[in-house]
Amino acid sequence: MTCNTNKRDTDDTDFRNVLDSYNDREANCIFCELSASRIIAENELCIAIKDAFLVTEHHTLVIPKQHVADYFDLHQPERNAIKAMLHDQRGKILEEDPTVTGFNADASAGQTVFHIHVHLIPRREGDVVDPRGGVRGVIPSKQKY
Ligand code: 5GP
Ligand code: ZN
Repeated sequence: MTCNTNKRDTDDTDFRNVLDSYNDREANCIFCELSASRIIAENELCIAIKDAFLVTEHHTLVIPKQHVADYFDLHQPERNAIKAMLHDQRGKILEEDPTVTGFNADASAGQTVFHIHVHLIPRREGDVVDPRGGVRGVIPSKQKY
């Protein structure tokens, strides 16, 4: 039997730095220093809290434990943890509140807290007069089309 060395499932990546990065925290970051009582759910790599200034009832933030500003700097396991948490929280909100008809789930650019977080914002039929172009409202002059 021949062995194709190009297809070995090993490489030289050292994953210790990745594991270490999961423990990165920053002093004076509100999301690194949340009190335990604010945390409504937790898994290995992320937490969920209620937003302090709700856009709509049950507005939730899903936050990786690692202090990192940009979603695209997260490692895949953290993205998986965030996705699982979003699904869990979505399910809980739908169970609790039958008026919810949809969600916006969005990691903001132009954020004010530079510890990345995903907003999970429940939506309800009729909550805005004309919902067309919703996500386009990130650039208000481009929302209507
Ligand atoms: P962004 O960075 O995505 O623009 O906004 C930060 C979000 O964090 C806002 O929705 C704001 O209401 C929320 N927020 C700001 N300070 C606190 C806080 O101390 N606790 C919680 N739970 N949310 C906060
Ligand atoms: Zn932080």
